[in-house]
Amino acid sequence: MQFGNISLHLVSDGIYWEDGGGLFGLVPKVLWAQVAEPDERNRLCFDTCCLLIETSRQRILVDTGYGDKLSAKERSFLSLQGERRLLTNLEKLGLGLMDVDLVINTHLHGDHCGGNTQLVEHGAPMSSTHPIPTFPRATYCVQRLELADASFPNERTRGTYARENFEPLEQAGQLRVLWGDTRLTDEVRVIVTPGHTRAHQCVVIESGAQTALFLGDVASWPIHMERLSWIPAYDVEPLVSIETKRNLAHYAIENHVLLVFEHHPEIRAGYLHPTERPDRFHLEPVEM
Ligand SMILES: [Zn+2]
Repeated sequence: MQFGNISLHLVSDGIYWEDGGGLFGLVPKVLWAQVAEPDERNRLCFDTCCLLIETSRQRILVDTGYGDKLSAKERSFLSLQGERRLLTNLEKLGLGLMDVDLVINTHLHGDHCGGNTQLVEHGAPMSSTHPIPTFPRATYCVQRLELADASFPNERTRGTYARENFEPLEQAGQLRVLWGDTRLTDEVRVIVTPGHTRAHQCVVIESGAQTALFLGDVASWPIHMERLSWIPAYDVEPLVSIETKRNLAHYAIENHVLLVFEHHPEIRAGYLHPTERPDRFHLEPVEM
């Protein structure tokens, strides 16, 4: 998709399946099953759409999916198929590992930063089992508080924060720690959007008169943006999530912002419109 002077591509790291209850938290299944039919194990299908932003000077990748370091047991639990999914899709766009200048992690959950690091280099097995940064030239941008929460997880959060996804970046001198809202280039900036995690960040892309907002897990699926009270069970601060979504919904409507979704298997992006209810919105999907 051409967007002012820059181009935006969604690059998937593959689909996976996860329990529907996690995505909808307190919402009863009789309600959420009307918008998504679960499989026989009560699971829903998710995509891992990372965003590639190509400016005249830089290639910026937002999030890196699950990557290839999961155990066979973890992969089977998620029904995650194939290897080098993200890297293969980047290759289809003509991009190799050396072509990514900047990686932005919305947060450090395993489905968003697993591909930050890898155990192999150029297809050859490494002698060491220590992961290395997947993109050798890239600077990786992470919020300070997110890094702190990931580095010192508690009993509830430790299952999704894996050190191997971020520690090798620091060791390689490729980690840039961000302190709050930060402009990264003329067209790209990040804003802290708490709720899913305490320092989740969204990416704002502004080019010409157009604005896009990559939502990450602020709204994993469009329905989470359409209904403010629908909050995933994963969110660590659900009441804060509601306020974050309310602010972003008003910002998106007032400024005609293209919302980009990371996890829905079909709806990639769209424009939000108000309804007669203040806590509900309607998304007009857009091909991307
Ligand atoms: Zn996620």
